[in-house]
Amino acid sequence: MKYVDEYRSAGIAHALSGEIAALVRLGETVRIMEICGGHTHTIYRHGLEDLLPAEVELVHGPGCPVCVIPMGRVDDAIAIAEQPGVTLATFGDMMRVPGGRGSLLEAKARGADVRMVYSPLDALALARNEPGRHVVFFAIGFETTAPATAVTLLRARTEAVANFAVFCNHVTIEPPLRAILETPGLLVDGFIGPGHVSTVIGTDAYRFIPDQYGRPIVVSAFEPVDLLQSVAMLLRQRREGRCEVENQYTRVVRREGNPRALAAIDETMELRESFEWRGLGSLKRSALRLRPAFAAWDAEALYELPGARIEDPKACRCGEVLTGQIKPWECGVFGTACTPERPLGTCMVSSEGACAAYYAYGRLRRPQEPVVA
Ligand code: SF4
Repeated sequence: MKYVDEYRSAGIAHALSGEIAALVRLGETVRIMEICGGHTHTIYRHGLEDLLPAEVELVHGPGCPVCVIPMGRVDDAIAIAEQPGVTLATFGDMMRVPGGRGSLLEAKARGADVRMVYSPLDALALARNEPGRHVVFFAIGFETTAPATAVTLLRARTEAVANFAVFCNHVTIEPPLRAILETPGLLVDGFIGPGHVSTVIGTDAYRFIPDQYGRPIVVSAFEPVDLLQSVAMLLRQRREGRCEVENQYTRVVRREGNPRALAAIDETMELRESFEWRGLGSLKRSALRLRPAFAAWDAEALYELPGARIEDPKACRCGEVLTGQIKPWECGVFGTACTPERPLGTCMVSSEGACAAYYAYGRLRRPQEPVVA
């Protein structure tokens, strides 16, 4: 296939749907976790669940970068934004994530200078254009977005931009997957691997999943036909008694990943001892911080932060959604006290969040009987 239309072809999708139905045994249940929030979005936007037999259940994983940021880090960002002379720049979704003291958008309404940017380079441009302000980029995301932050830091150093800093919240994909795989009574039979992260880290990075935990994984692209093909590849492995890392996204993802992007991350960042994840608690060596050589651009070295650990609201079940233990409609506040307009939890904020995807595409309660019997 070459053109995007082909990756959305109803004919190819229905053929794959039939292939998937033939790969399961009547009455068995195969639970497949799509790790990435982008995949969750595609599944519900295109109604792919309705093309799967009742035997295949999709559960949603922790790969939405906005969803995994704990409330305490939002409060830290607000504390930075409230410093005199500071402009805090971040992605639009991040401005709406609730912390213990409200969201960055609310801080902006109170007078803090919080601005939306599309990339860390936009934030660096702000710093160049407004030398009287200290511009801090609130960096989030997995290995997908970390290279852009790394390249921006390298450019800030080359250009000696002194009024720019990064509040680094980049996280890595392996520790949360290990945490999920080590959950007692884990019911996940296989994984759809994240396409974007894999362009950077490569497919070899997932070998621990089949080798140490006995689960197959297929790294997938993001179009509807891609995802159906990935489900079929997982089921075929199961049928043939194989348990491997496979790559469906061969048009972009390489076994070794992107060495230049990895080198940029390695030059500017190092692993933290531990990091607090929403729903998963504190995970060892699961996030990145700036290396000491970049202390002049490190907001954590430049500002005193509250660093508080804040419990999620009692009604919020984002942690269980992020680890595939419940579906969004099982959370008591889904679609009532928690909506995209007034999110209570992070999974309702970003379009990559499972709750936002269910809400946007009308999955407001337990699904009807699937179309394919
Ligand atoms: Fe979290 Fe809201 Fe989803 Fe409940 S409905 S899990 S509070 S995002």
